[in-house]
Amino acid sequence: MGGIKHEAMKQRDAALPATTLGELSDRGVGVFCWCNRCGHNATIAVARLIAELGPQFPVPEIGAKMRCSGCGCRDVATRPDWPSLGQVADHTSHF
Ligand SMILES: [Zn+2]
Repeated sequence: MGGIKHEAMKQRDAALPATTLGELSDRGVGVFCWCNRCGHNATIAVARLIAELGPQFPVPEIGAKMRCSGCGCRDVATRPDWPSLGQVADHTSHF
């Protein structure tokens, strides 16, 4: 009696393709997390998440696994932390 899981996967295909942790790792991009309740935000290293969730894990679903370190709620959104201005991968700041 199975087959129900396939239905859920079809629905996800209709939406935008989710970026996976493996893709971000290839590009050296981190995961940006944002708390919908208190606005606390942070960027998490992909390597750490891959160790826990695996490279095939879709980035938008990481939020369901997270808990805000600011207010402790679980209403956390996640997205790839794409660099906003072209190539800023190696920005070394010495203050
Ligand atoms: Zn919060």
